[in-house]
Amino acid sequence: MAVNIILPPSTLSLWHTKKLIYSTQNRFRIMSSASKSQPQSVASSAVYQVPGLDSHETDSTADKTFERYSSNTAKRNGKGVSIVWFRNDLRVLDNEALFKAWVSSQAVLPVYCIDPRLFQTTHYFGFPKTGALRAQFIIECLADLKRNLMKKGLNLLIQHGKPEEILPSLAKAFGAHTVYAHKETCSEELKVERSAARGLRQVVLSPAQGNSSRSSSTHSPKLQLIWGSTLYHLDDLPFSVGSLPDVYTQFRKSVEAKCTIRGCIRLPTSLGPPPIVDDWGIIPSVEQLGLHCEKVVKGMRFLGGETAALSRVTEYFWNKDLLKIYKETRNGMLGPDYSTKFSPWLASGSLSSRFIYEEVKRYEKERLANDSTYWVLFELIWRDYFRFISIKYGNSLFHLGGPRKVEKRWHQDQKSFETWRNGCTGYPLIDANMKELSASGFMSNRGRQIVCSFLVRDMGIDWRMGAEWFETCLLDYDPCSNYGNWTYGAGVGNDPREDRYFSIPKQAQTYDPDGEHVAFWVPELLPLPKEKRNFPGKSYIEQVVPLKFGSSNKHHSQRSEYGGRHYGLRNR
Ligand code: FAD
Repeated sequence: MAVNIILPPSTLSLWHTKKLIYSTQNRFRIMSSASKSQPQSVASSAVYQVPGLDSHETDSTADKTFERYSSNTAKRNGKGVSIVWFRNDLRVLDNEALFKAWVSSQAVLPVYCIDPRLFQTTHYFGFPKTGALRAQFIIECLADLKRNLMKKGLNLLIQHGKPEEILPSLAKAFGAHTVYAHKETCSEELKVERSAARGLRQVVLSPAQGNSSRSSSTHSPKLQLIWGSTLYHLDDLPFSVGSLPDVYTQFRKSVEAKCTIRGCIRLPTSLGPPPIVDDWGIIPSVEQLGLHCEKVVKGMRFLGGETAALSRVTEYFWNKDLLKIYKETRNGMLGPDYSTKFSPWLASGSLSSRFIYEEVKRYEKERLANDSTYWVLFELIWRDYFRFISIKYGNSLFHLGGPRKVEKRWHQDQKSFETWRNGCTGYPLIDANMKELSASGFMSNRGRQIVCSFLVRDMGIDWRMGAEWFETCLLDYDPCSNYGNWTYGAGVGNDPREDRYFSIPKQAQTYDPDGEHVAFWVPELLPLPKEKRNFPGKSYIEQVVPLKFGSSNKHHSQRSEYGGRHYGLRNR
């Protein structure tokens, strides 16, 4: 059983006895068999560690996985020193940059640059670019990466400053012939890549330095960028990125029919030795990054790092055997188990999506294959899609009109926005989700779609304010998935076919029928009868705006179901 969990037993049993029922609207939803119990049985404060294994179990799970994925046939044929510049790829397993650096050298120097620009403010609205909870998660990822690299005979050099300044000076000092790194796709990251390449070109290495297979003349270190963030490799796509299908389904069907997913990169057990380094640097604390330390005192507390990531895969797929019901549970909102929760590790690169693919295939072979096992891959293809879309549409993903350059009137009323941001809109479903985001750095996919629709469609607020607030808070923030989903939700995305209005009463009835999620995050709703928690009327704060379609005081509004082409009954 999990450690670090402060969880009343009544709540544990409530979450663990959920069962699936088929609703009258022809879709599965989650019902708790404890739903007849008294409202007081819903815990109003609990911390759920993800993964819920103790440190001994996480260590042994990761060690076994590394062993399974190690290779003793890989050959090293390089000379001199190479550098691995870690970015959003904070892992050892399936890390091609690390592998190539090892193959091409006699000594690998792994480095991570703590770039001060990541701790400034968001582009338009000046929110913190990295909130304290994500900063803490990244710190844990770095500590774990360092530990795992040390197990492989290496270490991690921590440097504070801009990569474009640090990498050339390290390359010079160590005579490194190549800096290997994973390729990014959005403008801020691309700018850093270009500056780093420029800086490296200005370094002059003597003939004695670097890879001796080169000529006797002086030369400069190279930046070699490697594609490694998606399930499908960029080079394997059956179309050029410029002609990528705009409609997700067309993209998915095409890659599924015409591409294969490359196998994970297998590294040798030992990657050492590293070059001699006097001072490997210290991983900073959240305070040293200029942020106030925040502790998760309620909701999910994600552990950063590859060790935790690999353990979560084992926990979700193998120990709890939840993969086989993923498709039926994935629209849930409460607790660690309704969905995989892989996203924070995928975003930091502590987890490879190709590794998840291989685990799904192993599960299908050893246990069973069904719609649910496929559906995790279906969702990962959404992630790929938004990553490739970010190449196709570039900066328009961040512009008000989005990729389609839609002209529409939005407002930026700060006071209204703050009611949304702080979870004080008067709509329990919105408020609960926004409070969850602030308190834990996470929100379910269902919740994200609902709060996005409410901000842009019911409140009419500039969608970029919502996207930037998500950028601050989300543990799993990634520019492609975040801005891709927001442009999609705001109706300015590349796929114009959907009108994504989410009716709050309908969503509440379908996805939180007993008000468990809202009572967890808004405890003043806990004493209300469960069917009233999402519809508290005057016993809750005043609603900041009326709904565009229908009233939230009626349990089931005609207009909300038929007046707008709302989205509550569809798969996505
Ligand atoms: P699961 O349901 O278990 O899915 C498995 C994996 O599939 C996820 O970890 C994720 O990598 C991928 N995935 C699932 N849905 C999507 C999707 N719609 N788009 C892209 N990938 C998906 N996801 C992020 O990783 N980073 C973000 O910054 C982000 N911002 C979002 C903003 C909005 C407005 C919305 C509606 C969605 C956003 N998502 C984002 C997508 C999605 O909500 C999360 O990936 C998901 O909730 C993470 O939980 P999970 O890992 O349990 O997902």
